[in-house]
Amino acid sequence: MNPKYSFIIPIYNEEKSIPELYRRMSAVMEQLNAPTELILVNDGSRDRSLQMLRELHEKDPRVCYLSLARNFGHQIAVTAGLNFVRGEAIVILDADLQDPPELIPDMVDKWQQGYQVVYAQRIKRHKERWFKRFTAYVFYRLLKRLANVEIPTDTGDFCLMDRQVVDILNSMPERNRYIRGLRSWVGFPQTAVYFERPPRFAGEVQYTFRKSVSLAVNGLVSFSKVPLRLSTYVGLFAAAIAVAMAILVLYWRIFVPNSPLTGFTLILVAIFFLGAVQLVSIGILGEYIGRIYEEVKGRPLYTLAEVAGFKNVASRK
Ligand code: UDP
Ligand code: MG
Repeated sequence: MNPKYSFIIPIYNEEKSIPELYRRMSAVMEQLNAPTELILVNDGSRDRSLQMLRELHEKDPRVCYLSLARNFGHQIAVTAGLNFVRGEAIVILDADLQDPPELIPDMVDKWQQGYQVVYAQRIKRHKERWFKRFTAYVFYRLLKRLANVEIPTDTGDFCLMDRQVVDILNSMPERNRYIRGLRSWVGFPQTAVYFERPPRFAGEVQYTFRKSVSLAVNGLVSFSKVPLRLSTYVGLFAAAIAVAMAILVLYWRIFVPNSPLTGFTLILVAIFFLGAVQLVSIGILGEYIGRIYEEVKGRPLYTLAEVAGFKNVASRK
């Protein structure tokens, strides 16, 4: 029999959180009172995480796991989980208990009311560094202004999705997967539940600054063409300034002899300014072209080293 509820949890070096995660997830699964599956996706962990997943699978048949052949990153780990999931309502959450499992019954409630996507929106973050809070604040608002779909602010990947939505996500071939954006893009009735994001239960943050920047750039580039247009705007602006300057210089030449403003500094500033604009524009172009290149290569999204617990799975990517 297929499970009704599925949970997907990406795991990267989470040995310290796994026991507590399992304890709290089991409590929630019991409370739901329906067949469930807990899909743990090991994203190339270097600690004992995989070993612990094997042990959990041995003692609890609800636990299935996938193990990617190396670290592919959080979004791809979740995608792998989505490819294997069998339930009717699918919940994605983090392993470090920053997405409290106790919120799941609320999400299920909303799902039963007919919402096909229920995302968790943070109203507060506890004990995260001001820098992360600040950059996240700015980024989500920037994304909201620029993106061509309405992506709600302050929502991560913690959400419940209906089978229909997950099937659509699975049929999307793109490899730069910004899941919270794709989830909004799909449409259907969506709603929020609100929570205060607790600090990490244990262990180190796995989203390093570099990974966070890359996720943010991915989100912007995947859902907005505004950055591309930006260089056109700046170019037009620079052209307007150039015309104004030409007129000014002509004016000075004729009416103000020995004007200091036609000198060397002005030329240097202009050269640097235009050089910078051009380099930034090429960089932005590069972001888009690099993604085209990635898509065109058509490599699989991930490679699997180990799969357990999916005996009666019909369609497997
Ligand atoms: N994660 C992953 N692969 C990675 C980085 C992170 O699967 O390369 C997982 C990690 O184990 C956790 C979730 O993604 O379950 C969120 O990571 P983290 O808590 O470090 O990020 P943050 O809470 O700061 O967004
Ligand atoms: Mg976390």
